[in-house]
Amino acid sequence: MKENIYDVIIIGGGPAGLTAGLYASRAMLKTVLLEKGLTGGQMASTGVIDNYPGIRNISGMELGQKMEEHAKDFGLEIVLCEVKCLDKEGDIFKVNTDKGEFRSKTVIMTTGVRPRSLNVPGEKDLKGKGVSYCAICDGFFFRNKKVAVIGGGDSALEEGDYLTKFADKVCIIHRRDEFRGGQNYRERARKNPKIEFIMDTIATEIIGDEFVTALKLKNKKTGKEWVESFDGVFIYVGTLPNLFVCKIDYDSDKMGYIKTDDKMSTSIKGLFAAGDVRSKLLRQITTAVGDGATASVSAEKYIEELKYQNNLKKVG
Ligand code: NAP
Repeated sequence: MKENIYDVIIIGGGPAGLTAGLYASRAMLKTVLLEKGLTGGQMASTGVIDNYPGIRNISGMELGQKMEEHAKDFGLEIVLCEVKCLDKEGDIFKVNTDKGEFRSKTVIMTTGVRPRSLNVPGEKDLKGKGVSYCAICDGFFFRNKKVAVIGGGDSALEEGDYLTKFADKVCIIHRRDEFRGGQNYRERARKNPKIEFIMDTIATEIIGDEFVTALKLKNKKTGKEWVESFDGVFIYVGTLPNLFVCKIDYDSDKMGYIKTDDKMSTSIKGLFAAGDVRSKLLRQITTAVGDGATASVSAEKYIEELKYQNNLKKVG
């Protein structure tokens, strides 16, 4: 019996994975995308996207659904399962999941990122009880409330702005006196009358029994400490790569992001990485989509080369 070997296995269903899936399926490669939850990745939990060229304003959820439908139209197979381990035997990759093993000639890792924890007392215990990492998932529960947003990057500014749809007051608490987030996000937040900024300040504790009631804050410049009442806190202090057990040792940077060249090739032949999980400068939907397309074309070229080399071996 002929073994069921895919040309391409894509691990992760965010914009990079769905684009890689679209390109690979359209190129008639036998492709499967493995995703453990909802497709769309981090994008699906972004309220408003206004920097995707050609689409002035769309929710992340809707853009994700459109990308999935588009890829499926070209024949992409999507399997909902959790990847446990990746290994390689000769030229064949083995992807072990909770729904069994999948085998392929190439793998494209598009597992994205997850939110970083603040690591302060109260955070773990009050997660889901006023501590959140997703404004679009939980913002609704804070109608007419006062919430804190911790962080100073694009996410903190963008999601802080989004939360004013529900909350009466949003305090963005940042540890420096300058935001890391881009000018457009800074301007939009500054113009929003419901947003207040607490700069040079860190949260040292999240307080509450059943639910968040307050934050213990400390001004880093003056040393002043105080407790301020909040009904909830949204933490946006950066991200970490989503990884799983991998028996093949690819190169990564010091934060664990996968190193690739400009063809999205990793240090392992046949293994490609695309999107936020890759070590790179700019993590945007647009860059993820570009990575996904490049990774897919590189995988196609690699498969052709593999076929050519194997034919040479047979002839010789
Ligand atoms: P980020 O850019 O890494 O910013 C993290 C922020 O959290 C920084 O301001 C950092 O402060 C602060 N921070 C880190 N550790 C902290 C701690 N222990 N206590 C207090 N503050 C802490 O992360 P991000 O905003 O999640 O963005 C991640 C990536 O996604 C970026 O590349 C961003 O451009 C991208 N993104 C894109 C979009 C979009 O395209 N629409 C939207 C959102 C995010 P310092 O500045 O002092 O280091």
